[in-house]
Amino acid sequence: MRIDLHTHSRVSDGTDSPAELVAAAAAAGLDVVALTDHDTAAGWAEALAAGEEHGVTVVPGMEISTRYDGHAVHLLAYLPDPSYPPLVAELDRVLSGRVGRLPAMVERLQGLGIAITEQDVLARSADAAATGRPHVADALVALGVVDSRDEAFDRYLAAGRPGFVDRYAAPLVPMIGLVAAAGGVTVIAHPWGRIGREQPSAEALAELAAAGLSGIEVDHQDHAPAVRERLRGIARDLDLVATGSSDYHGTGKTGHPLGVNTTAPSELERLLSRAAAAAAASGRRTPSVVLP
Ligand code: AMP
Ligand code: ZN
Ligand code: FE
Ligand code: FE
Repeated sequence: MRIDLHTHSRVSDGTDSPAELVAAAAAAGLDVVALTDHDTAAGWAEALAAGEEHGVTVVPGMEISTRYDGHAVHLLAYLPDPSYPPLVAELDRVLSGRVGRLPAMVERLQGLGIAITEQDVLARSADAAATGRPHVADALVALGVVDSRDEAFDRYLAAGRPGFVDRYAAPLVPMIGLVAAAGGVTVIAHPWGRIGREQPSAEALAELAAAGLSGIEVDHQDHAPAVRERLRGIARDLDLVATGSSDYHGTGKTGHPLGVNTTAPSELERLLSRAAAAAAASGRRTPSVVLP
């Protein structure tokens, strides 16, 4: 069984529609794929329907923008009730922050002499519930300012570059609790993905595990082999589920093809049993998955 637990569609900053993504997952020989668009469940229904059509098990998820100890942390959430009002409210706050920073980003780029407008960006994010810097990058490509998303991030959009503007992110520990209250489970995405930085630290991961975190993403393209082995050891010590995934973004991110990393079936089973326990404890109506 081949399992990929982290992918993005056009509902956030990927380039496939949810149905195209699931068809691509089937073509790539995956049996299970999680759709984890940034901060939204808006692609779930289309992905689940495509899963039935293509014989792929779709795990509904999302990658939530959070902050911990002053650092951005991406939190994968699987199988929460997407209508749980406190979760909806907090995601709305994050989504508003995504759109709300656009005028400031556009103004900064204009200040650098680039003739970009907010409309140029919104034209690139027409299908997206979550607008992000990759859409600004796409607008810069369309305007001929840069050749690729990578170049746009390197020159203008990465943190510390002149077009960067920060935005709201949800506090991490309360968000772990919010997802649990919605009947779902949480996994830290690419925990040490930034080269040379171990943040959250091993001690912090222990604190997060105690706060209800279910797992960490170990096998990710941003982790060198030695980092993966250290994270695998931490997962073992803390009784966290160790996942692997592609973080596929269609053609929006190079080097992340579907299935490039996968999750062991035994780890998915552990994650789903924790999800079943969270769902029962929450009393919420959560999505269900049936493994092949
Ligand atoms: P935002 O969600 O607006 O904070 O933008 C962050 C998103 O941009 C993440 O999902 C990354 O996958 C994506 N991203 C970051 N760096 C790059 C890059 N160099 N090329 C393409 N996408 C990137
Ligand atoms: Zn992304
Ligand atoms: Fe991420
Ligand atoms: Fe991602």
